[in-house]
Amino acid sequence: MTDLSWEQKADDFSLYGFTDLPSVHDRGAVVVTHGEGPYIFDTKGRKYLDANSGLWNMVAGFDHKGLIEAAQAQYARFPGYHAFFGRMSDQTVLLSEKLIEVSPYDRGRVFYTNSGSEANDTMVKTLWFLHAAEGKPQRRKILTRVNAYHGVTAVSASMTGKPYNSVFGLPLPGFIHLTCPHYWRFGQDGETEEQFTARLAAELEATIIKEGPDTIAAFFAEPVMGAGGVIPPSKGYFQAIAPILKKYDIPLISDEVICGFGRTGNTWGCETYDFMPDAIISSKNLTAGFFPMGAVILGPELADRVQAAAEAIEEFPHGFTASGHPVGCAIALKAIDVVMNEGLADNVNRLSPRLEAGLAQIAQNPNIGELRGVGYMWALEAVKDRATKTPFDGSLSVSERIANTCTDMGLICRPLGQSIVLCPPFILTEPQMDEMFEKLEKALKKVF
Ligand code: PLP
Repeated sequence: MTDLSWEQKADDFSLYGFTDLPSVHDRGAVVVTHGEGPYIFDTKGRKYLDANSGLWNMVAGFDHKGLIEAAQAQYARFPGYHAFFGRMSDQTVLLSEKLIEVSPYDRGRVFYTNSGSEANDTMVKTLWFLHAAEGKPQRRKILTRVNAYHGVTAVSASMTGKPYNSVFGLPLPGFIHLTCPHYWRFGQDGETEEQFTARLAAELEATIIKEGPDTIAAFFAEPVMGAGGVIPPSKGYFQAIAPILKKYDIPLISDEVICGFGRTGNTWGCETYDFMPDAIISSKNLTAGFFPMGAVILGPELADRVQAAAEAIEEFPHGFTASGHPVGCAIALKAIDVVMNEGLADNVNRLSPRLEAGLAQIAQNPNIGELRGVGYMWALEAVKDRATKTPFDGSLSVSERIANTCTDMGLICRPLGQSIVLCPPFILTEPQMDEMFEKLEKALKKVF
């Protein structure tokens, strides 16, 4: 061990992902040691209110007693197992039953991964497997949207509609990105929101026809785009696209890695936006961030077809060493209970109007172009000129400067493109919410 500072060690020995490197070299890393409720603490004893919930996931805070006890009890009882070769832990069995119970489906099947990226990969592989088994191996193309975020593995990064993936030579061929349903940014002059939605639906149908319906494996969508900048769908979006997908027999997959388990005010984002997906991708809140785990939840029709395809070759040849880890499953069982039955989901419903009102007040700042969001996921988009929606320029984005200023004041919020994202944990109290508003407002005044 060297006697370098924590910050220096962090900078010297780790390869940072998704970090503005000049900024971290300049400012030094925040090296986090522990958390209490919605707060984290660093090696210098500084305290930060984490309005980012870790990475959207620590919805019950950082030291929830019930979740820690669930983890400790399961580690003591049985610390690790896979879900293969005819064996599966009791906790895994219980969690699958629970997930179907709380899903929008009356029956279905669950497959476990270690992350949201792997869950999306698993879903794509499952569909490729299914289509090939049903005599349509050419059904491999995946439809997603510009600004979608579905993960970082080669397949899920290909589904992600962000330009930074070009440095990896991605997307892979066959991943098609349709227009982002963000009316404020992509609506044309004179176009109403309804007309915008209709245009996107027409684009979807034209793309299906052009590519050939029989070449398309599925359409993936986040109910509210998260890492793309918190973008709720335009009015009537899912009602417009779902019938088109149905018409061409293309499965609609809801990536609920962020939206699932309460973030939008309902258990699922598809409930909030009133559509019925063929399968759901879950992670993050699934374990309230206390264990890395993802799940693919197949609705009844896909579950039956995939099971039949697997039966036909006597195996579904896929899985990760830690798939259905019993500690993760025990934590998830507890997390679902905590979110749904201990008032956390109620908090989101009760306090989201307060959250929206406070942010709307802050959004009066002339350099905020749009406030958008739902439930406990919101973004404020910075603009140089409100009327023209012209973004700021400069090597360090304005949102990065706002986030850094907030960090200096003891508030963690996330810069995403030109937006500042607030997605607080569900345990946030009203005074803590006020602390967040106060610090954010001060930071904006400092930067603009
Ligand atoms: N899907 C969505 C909607 C996400 O927001 C994320 C991560 O933020 C992922 C998938 C990828 O999950 P993970 O980072 O656990 O691989």
